[in-house]
Amino acid sequence: MPSRLSPARRRRLSPPRTLPVSIEYIFEKLELEYGPIEWQPRYNALDELIFTVLTQHTSDLNAERAFKELQKRIPTWIEVIEADVKEIARAIQSGGLANQKSVRIQRILNDILERHGALELEFLKDFELDEARVWLTALPGVGPKTAAVVMAFALGMPAMPVDTHIHRVSGRVGLIRAGTSADDAHVVLEKIVQPEDRFNLHVLLITHGRQLCKARRPLCDRCPLAGRCPSSGKFV
Ligand code: SF4
Repeated sequence: MPSRLSPARRRRLSPPRTLPVSIEYIFEKLELEYGPIEWQPRYNALDELIFTVLTQHTSDLNAERAFKELQKRIPTWIEVIEADVKEIARAIQSGGLANQKSVRIQRILNDILERHGALELEFLKDFELDEARVWLTALPGVGPKTAAVVMAFALGMPAMPVDTHIHRVSGRVGLIRAGTSADDAHVVLEKIVQPEDRFNLHVLLITHGRQLCKARRPLCDRCPLAGRCPSSGKFV
């Protein structure tokens, strides 16, 4: 069957022909810098999904406050479905965009109940990675990043979530082509990073983006990747 992707889009979904810095090199240097990573689930999969919705356009700290307050005021997901949406918005107001997020959370929960018949997502562990991604991204307002967070952090599946830090660092070190969107970067990075390395590399790249490869003023002079990074020293 002929591909429906345009040549430009096909190009954005493919890794650069040669990587200026190998994944192994990045892995080794960042692990030395930040220490080894160990996967541990934070929440069950449904809690992780709702928590991730709350993190949209705000800090993890604000999202955690909103999530705790929601659990305190409306303790079960079935009660959240049945609650007045304004009550949900009041509970999550510390996470910002409370009016939009309250509606989105109720829609997501309703959709899960309708499609799966229960308010849980652990069943996705039995799915193939792409099948689970398709299931999750069919939920209202759930994009590739949110789906990948749920799969990687709660279900232990080899997805690689791409947030703003990973998108920026990947672009600077040349793992993705210029102009590749964060959504498309999920596809590219999963092509070049081995399944068993994705979670750890995700955590290392986020840490690197926060601590050294910062958005405005990356600290290239202190960066362990500087010797091979094509963007090194370009930000003075
Ligand atoms: S050398 Fe600079 S641009 Fe490259 S990864 Fe390090 S901090 Fe980022």
